[in-house]
Amino acid sequence: MNIVRFSLGDLLKLKKPHPCGSDTFRVMRVGSDVRIACTGCSRDLTLPRIKLEGQIKKVIADGDDER
Ligand SMILES: [Zn+2]
Repeated sequence: MNIVRFSLGDLLKLKKPHPCGSDTFRVMRVGSDVRIACTGCSRDLTLPRIKLEGQIKKVIADGDDER
């Protein structure tokens, strides 16, 4: 599996959409756990980084080139 790189402020498109219907989340805090906020309903959730990486479909970098 590829190493997924993302940083603070990036948008993550996840394989599993949030119950509100949005599948895009903004990275709020990065560590061994990552806090992300749903762009649809602004609720935030914290996931272990390893688990989150498995759910990322696409990283949309903030003000950076797409990866
Ligand atoms: Zn949501």
